[in-house]
Amino acid sequence: MNRPMLLLEACCPNCGALLTEGQRVHLDAYCRDTNQDGEVRLSAIFGDYAIETDLKMPDGAVVDFRCPVCDQSLMLQMPCKLCGAPMASVNLKGGGVLEFCSRAGCRGHALGGFGDVDEMMSLLNTMLNTPHD
Ligand SMILES: [Zn+2]
Ligand SMILES: [Zn+2]
Repeated sequence: MNRPMLLLEACCPNCGALLTEGQRVHLDAYCRDTNQDGEVRLSAIFGDYAIETDLKMPDGAVVDFRCPVCDQSLMLQMPCKLCGAPMASVNLKGGGVLEFCSRAGCRGHALGGFGDVDEMMSLLNTMLNTPHD
């Protein structure tokens, strides 16, 4: 099997900095429950739910995501369809926006963790139809 991996190239919506480093998306985060500030690395591989962080995040904790470059909040005024926690968003380099849930343990948490299959398919199509330079 030599299926090409879909690597999500995430950019900051505020300053445009590329947030994908290798196969990880690097974000700064603040955990409200534990009052901790740290870094979160989400897998940039489409459909991979892996997450690495130096924060101690109890299951169900809500995290405020920020851009590590310009320090602007990435949070949206929009609740997660699955759990009601605030959503965060980053831009995709090829066009489009990637939204993800800020609650640890929610299926919508990591990149690619969409609750809506239609949304996921349309994003996939956008990515596949976007020529890479
Ligand atoms: Zn930024
Ligand atoms: Zn959620």
